Amino acid sequence: MSASVVMVADTHPACEVLGPGVRYCVWVQGCPLRCGGCVSPEWIPFEGGTAVPVADLADEIVRTAADGLTLSGGEPFAQAQALAELVTRVRARRDLSVMSYSGHTLEWLRRHGDEHQRRLLSLLDLLVDGPYVAGRHAALRWRGSANQRLHRLTDRHRDLPGPDESAGLRIEITPDRRVHWLGVPPVPGFGPAFSRAFSRVFSERPAEGRRE
Ligand code: SF4
Repeated sequence: MSASVVMVADTHPACEVLGPGVRYCVWVQGCPLRCGGCVSPEWIPFEGGTAVPVADLADEIVRTAADGLTLSGGEPFAQAQALAELVTRVRARRDLSVMSYSGHTLEWLRRHGDEHQRRLLSLLDLLVDGPYVAGRHAALRWRGSANQRLHRLTDRHRDLPGPDESAGLRIEITPDRRVHWLGVPPVPGFGPAFSRAFSRVFSERPAEGRRE
């Protein structure tokens, strides 16, 4: 895959439940970890998604992001070279906060990550590490299972306010009657149950999840 292209599963220009403030979110396509119980199984295959030039995505983020950028997926560190280039391009024009999720632990990335993965790590303010594990479900700040840790990698978010509890969920109904949810699932199995419920209401279209 060209480093000048990101394989994007989805984006959202203004999400307030996946990181501090209001953030542009990019969910990438493809995850090599293939966990059972993944809340976004449709984004595990590397086939699919939309090839978006890094320069175009950077322009869009610089133009529309409010407080920051959140990278999720899929596995952002599987596209580390392109995403490091993306963050570098964005930061050259705006000093945005950058947060990423990863199914890998911070220790794994530091010890075993390749040069591009370590470079992406060096550009982050916040990292949520580890996969979502339904059996360890927990309503924590920006993460949904107890194994996931929030790492402050810079001083930018040194003073996160309040208790370590869920930032909630955002549900959107688009003009063409697509239903999305964004955020961390509030209970195990939430994604499929939500999809079933809203598929009954809007019978032509399944509901879609955009998760942590
Ligand atoms: S839970 Fe996270 S790490 Fe596991 S397959 Fe899904 S996206 Fe990948």
